[in-house]
Amino acid sequence: EKFKDGLSKTRDSFSNRVNELVKDYRKVDEDFFEELEEILIEADVGVATVMDLIDELKDEARRQNIKDSEKLQYVISEKLAEFLQKEDDDTALNMQDGELTVFLFVGVNGVGKTTSIGKLAHKLKQEGKSVMMAAGDTFRAGAIDQLQVWGDRVGVDVVKHSEGSDPAAVIFDAVKSAKSKGVDVLLCDTAGRLQNKVNLMNELEKIKRVIGKEIPNAPHEVLLVVDATTGQNAMSQAKTFSKSTEVSGIVLTKLDGTAKGGIVLAIRHELEIPVKLVGLGEKVEDLYEFDPDQFVYGLFS
Ligand code: GDP
Repeated sequence: EKFKDGLSKTRDSFSNRVNELVKDYRKVDEDFFEELEEILIEADVGVATVMDLIDELKDEARRQNIKDSEKLQYVISEKLAEFLQKEDDDTALNMQDGELTVFLFVGVNGVGKTTSIGKLAHKLKQEGKSVMMAAGDTFRAGAIDQLQVWGDRVGVDVVKHSEGSDPAAVIFDAVKSAKSKGVDVLLCDTAGRLQNKVNLMNELEKIKRVIGKEIPNAPHEVLLVVDATTGQNAMSQAKTFSKSTEVSGIVLTKLDGTAKGGIVLAIRHELEIPVKLVGLGEKVEDLYEFDPDQFVYGLFS
């Protein structure tokens, strides 16, 4: 229910419009698809994704010989879910059994990176795991304190150095400390300076190297946090970041704050990176593992 509440803005605009379009008993013709296309574009699904989606819907309508719109409703939901998850996608977080799991969080300032780390720490603790955080954003004034606030709130230790220090050194210390204390999961914050792509890339690679030295195959996730309310801007950030470093999953925040939740489709379809977590509010429990079927159900029911 809370999940559905969080999607209410998108449901009010996008889903209700699709429902209305479909509900009027009408012919599935060019006009119908044009209107559907417009609704999808206004929900920030993104032109390229909309085109592919409409093409596939037309094919499906032809194949199943669907003539009236009501019968297309199910096909639309099914296609949306399909577009949200590729066959070989793994939307589950890559947790290690019996050894330290390390997740790296990347993304520009203000997108909800710290908040998402705090929420995930809380969620993992509730699942019975021990968690530690690393304050790897040493660049932005206040970032370290902000992570500490979350650490205090959810009862998790934060490894930190002073502002301006080497992020890789902080994270190296955190990995060592987490290992020696037998912690299950280490969540690492990083600075998101897109202005200087070469620096960003070098910094992230260095961080990955120091983690990998201590734990082969780590980091187990590089999670890119993007803000759903920024729409196509979130898309272009995601493109830039995924060129700078290998991103294993997306955390899409502030979906509760936008009527344009269609961005989740664009990200998945155009970037080939699975959305793994979604943020649907500011409270500690408002982070959800992304489930495409649940998402589509939340939109249309
Ligand atoms: P950072 O700079 O990327 O670390 O961003 P913060 O974690 O400080 O978040 C920036 C703002 O976005 C804060 O006011 C958060 O409360 C808010 N925020 C983060 N995630 C969500 C979300 O899922 N929904 C809503 N409504 N607000 C969020």
